Amino acid sequence: MPIIKEAIKHLFSHPVTLKYPYERTAPPAGFRGRPVWNTQRCFGCGLCSRICPSGAIEMTGKGKGAEITHYVDRCMFCGQCAESCPRNAIEMTEEFELAGFNRKNMIHRYKIS
Ligand code: SF4
Ligand code: SF4
Repeated sequence: MPIIKEAIKHLFSHPVTLKYPYERTAPPAGFRGRPVWNTQRCFGCGLCSRICPSGAIEMTGKGKGAEITHYVDRCMFCGQCAESCPRNAIEMTEEFELAGFNRKNMIHRYKIS
């Protein structure tokens, strides 16, 4: 009976899952966590805010001196903003533990310099 063989085999093997959060592993290559803006590279064109499918990026003003607001609670980590930025100014980081009780803590502001 192959199923019994299989059951016995797995009875003595280690689980493939981790006991998160006590056990951790590095995110895989290409992982898309919280996007972060590089205010030195950004030139304030506003493309990222126009292209974001979930309205997670707000832009106040244009060019140098503009302000970008990123709402993590709206973001779905698709990476479209980073893909589209002509200056490569947005990095999809490995930050993923972003849940919280206060939405105010999920707002990140960047002043373009
Ligand atoms: S991050 Fe990129 S796409 Fe967004 S405003 Fe800056 S230069 Fe434009
Ligand atoms: S990762 Fe996607 S949803 Fe999040 S801000 Fe960028 S474009 Fe918007």
